[in-house]
Amino acid sequence: MIKNVRVRFAPSPTGPLHIGGVRTALFNYLFAKKHNGTFVLRIEDTDQNRYVPGTENYIIEALNWCHIPYDEGPGKNEKFGPYRQSERKHIYKAYADKLIASGDAYYAFDTSEQLDFHRKDHEEKGKTFIYNWHNREKGRLVNSLVLSKEETQAKLDAGEDYVIRFKSPQDETLHLTDLIRGQITIDTNILDDKVLFKSDGMPTYHLANIVDDHLMEISHVIRGEEWLPSLALHYQLYQAFGWDAPEFAHLPLILKPTGKGKLSKRDGDKLGFPVFPLEWEDPKTNAISKGYKEDGYFPEAMINFLAFLGWNPGTEQEIFNLEELINAFDLEKVNKSGARFDPDKIKWFNHHYMQEQNDLELAEAFQSNHTSLSDIDIHYIAMVVGLIKERATFISDLWELSFFFFQAPRSYDEKARKKAFKEDTSDILKTVIAVVESIEDFTVESLQKDIKGWITSNDINFGKVMMPLRLALVGALQGPDVFDIMYMIGKMETIKRIENAIKTM
Ligand code: GLU
Repeated sequence: MIKNVRVRFAPSPTGPLHIGGVRTALFNYLFAKKHNGTFVLRIEDTDQNRYVPGTENYIIEALNWCHIPYDEGPGKNEKFGPYRQSERKHIYKAYADKLIASGDAYYAFDTSEQLDFHRKDHEEKGKTFIYNWHNREKGRLVNSLVLSKEETQAKLDAGEDYVIRFKSPQDETLHLTDLIRGQITIDTNILDDKVLFKSDGMPTYHLANIVDDHLMEISHVIRGEEWLPSLALHYQLYQAFGWDAPEFAHLPLILKPTGKGKLSKRDGDKLGFPVFPLEWEDPKTNAISKGYKEDGYFPEAMINFLAFLGWNPGTEQEIFNLEELINAFDLEKVNKSGARFDPDKIKWFNHHYMQEQNDLELAEAFQSNHTSLSDIDIHYIAMVVGLIKERATFISDLWELSFFFFQAPRSYDEKARKKAFKEDTSDILKTVIAVVESIEDFTVESLQKDIKGWITSNDINFGKVMMPLRLALVGALQGPDVFDIMYMIGKMETIKRIENAIKTM
């Protein structure tokens, strides 16, 4: 057991949480719970231009729906709060100043026009412009490394726009460790001097993220692979501040169903399956994006499915509830290579968890989806659900599989009718009615015993009875056991349906 585990999920509220974000939250949650640690939610909203209203609530609702709520975060156990970076604005400047004072960062006054010029100029020469050791002190760039102390101060006093950049060292090799990827070696010469702070008073992601992880005593940073390129900078920032760095684990990418390319937010609409946990209405366009919840998935299926996107227990077992996931989860068993998103697999999980749901609860959901069920006894619906759910993946499948328990067939499937209704069928069904009428104790067992007994003692072909009987009761050659159906709808209704079939034949 690792001690004092504190992990965080740190989404930026720039839109609804995508399925990859839920996977990151889940792995953080599992790791925290496994080690009796704390799962923190921090909202990284320093980029006000990309802020989308409603997303914070969406994120919290999505975590709650998946049964992976945060222990500490906005509005909950706020001992390291506030947990929204926009409310922590006052904290970051002092840390940027500290890096300036120690020589690990510097002021840069280059305007965006100047930077654009350098970029274009490089492009024309077939090169890429990188702001770092190889040009920062050559005099073409305007920063506090080339300006005198007085010149720099004069610019700051005049209120000129500036950024504070990290001074990435020349000719050094960084040795980084990732719990999933192992040792990573980085040549600092390829790194650019990332912006940490801007004159509008806002830190960038990099500075705010490191300062907050430190102040919130985060022990393990578990996040998506897309943040791996930032690791070198983050690691250097910890060194520059003289802080112990947390452990890092970068989760593998989630790939499109084809296995080629990263699954994107837009793939949902294109490929016809949700990529969001909950439905989302875009506040600007009012466009609706589908959600797993509204599409009828159980949170247990979602969690089980997501856990296997990049992790596996190393055994054949695939079905894991949350408790079992917590026990089995291990960062060492997380893969480096991308995990293919298979929308059929989550259906498979949903089918499994459908079987585990309580019939009465399913019946309630089923009833509220169908007005024609509103007057039907809930216990009867629950019994029906119990008989058919093994064929269902979603609650929305239930009606199609069970309507004949609630209403007589209005027509008979044409193909089935040709197959099942023959010349002698009408006589056979008349005798079935007589047998049914004679059954006093109308149970599945007696129905089975008496009808099967009559068939064998008269040496009739089984299909000649059972097929038209099923068609009479259901209207098609589908559904669960015929005797179950007869028992459920009762003696009178059974006879009525057989009579109707004889009439229309
Ligand atoms: N705010 C970043 C995001 O949106 C957090 C990345 C990290 O976990 O460091 O994913």
